[in-house]
Amino acid sequence: MSEWIKLASQVIERCACLAECTEEPGHTTRTFLSPPMHEVHARIRRWMEECGLQVRVDAAGNIRGRREGTQLSGTLYIGSHLDTVPQAGMFDGILGVLAGIALMESSGPYTFPVEIVGFSEEEGVRFGLPFLGSRALIGDFTPDLLAIKDREGVSVEQAITAFGLDPKCIPAARAESAALGYLELHIEQGPVLESRNESVAVVDAIVGQSRLTLSFEGRANHAGTTPMHLRHDALAGAAEWVQTIERIANQTPGNETPGNEKQGLVATVGRLQVTPGATNVIASHVQASLDVRHPTDFTRKAAVEEMVTAARQIAERRALSILVEPHLDQASVAMDRGLTNLLEQSVAACGFAACGFAASRLNSGAGHDAMVIAPKIPAAMLFLRSPGGISHHPDESVRVEDVAAALQVGHNFLERLGGIQ
Ligand SMILES: [Zn+2]
Repeated sequence: MSEWIKLASQVIERCACLAECTEEPGHTTRTFLSPPMHEVHARIRRWMEECGLQVRVDAAGNIRGRREGTQLSGTLYIGSHLDTVPQAGMFDGILGVLAGIALMESSGPYTFPVEIVGFSEEEGVRFGLPFLGSRALIGDFTPDLLAIKDREGVSVEQAITAFGLDPKCIPAARAESAALGYLELHIEQGPVLESRNESVAVVDAIVGQSRLTLSFEGRANHAGTTPMHLRHDALAGAAEWVQTIERIANQTPGNETPGNEKQGLVATVGRLQVTPGATNVIASHVQASLDVRHPTDFTRKAAVEEMVTAARQIAERRALSILVEPHLDQASVAMDRGLTNLLEQSVAACGFAACGFAASRLNSGAGHDAMVIAPKIPAAMLFLRSPGGISHHPDESVRVEDVAAALQVGHNFLERLGGIQ
């Protein structure tokens, strides 16, 4: 068995070991600083100390293991998150932290300091606000966040205090201003790498996102006595619009990066609320959600514009009225070009590049800690294949050879980064 496979097997075993730490017996559910996070920290602290890292937990609840460099340099942060969605799998986030520790085990000190960070919060499950951990790292954990309450009425401040930490020290969680970079290894959580039959890919950008609610208003009436041509059926209008959304998305390609053409615009109507919602009544009111994502903000905004116009046209033709409420307009976040190119060279040097010449590139359709960190610290991300494209589900898995590939690439990346220091 190769050394990398052996190390990858250990990473997977440790992911399984942390999956035992849960709020919900029989499942893995771990939200921001809930009691099982104490046990997660205890286990991670042991593994970090075994490979000689100096360990501390900052006031936002991030566990951090540091190894100094041999020269004066900015720190390279390697991390991901330790919280989970309800009834989660074993690898989302956690794998990136344990892979970082494995990288420290497999190599001596570098010229630059390295800090492995296990973020306390990324998913936003407990407080409805994601990225509490990475916000603290970049100094964006503003005092107003402390007042947000969970469903039990417990505030962020109380949760931090109950965990044994001091909320007043959150500013000290901030990364140094001259940080060298941030590297995150994460499962893809989608089916693209599997469809390309590749182990890993370098992330280009984290896509931008729009969220809106559209309400179609018609007139309720008797399903038996109202002829088809005299109806104002809100649901029939909404259904026509959903089909239009799918057509517009199918016709909007991805960005210019080779290999990414098929990663085009994605648009989803995931929720329709129909009123009055009876078998024998024509729908008077439909509230529809719309989620649109694309790596290029201009393309995304133009598509949203086209979708809203289509809704207005459909409503007019069917004598319905329409209300459009935008909720979110989140810009796309590009990864750092220099670090991303270096990571790409590492993928190629380790022999995992697509077609043998260039590393596969991918856009991330989901948010990650790297998205929050990138505006302040040069960031790069490596995705690992997600078997079956499954994530946020107990069936979430990884292949040991893909984890070994990611570790090998990560190791090569650290060596290269040392070389150009
Ligand atoms: Zn994640």
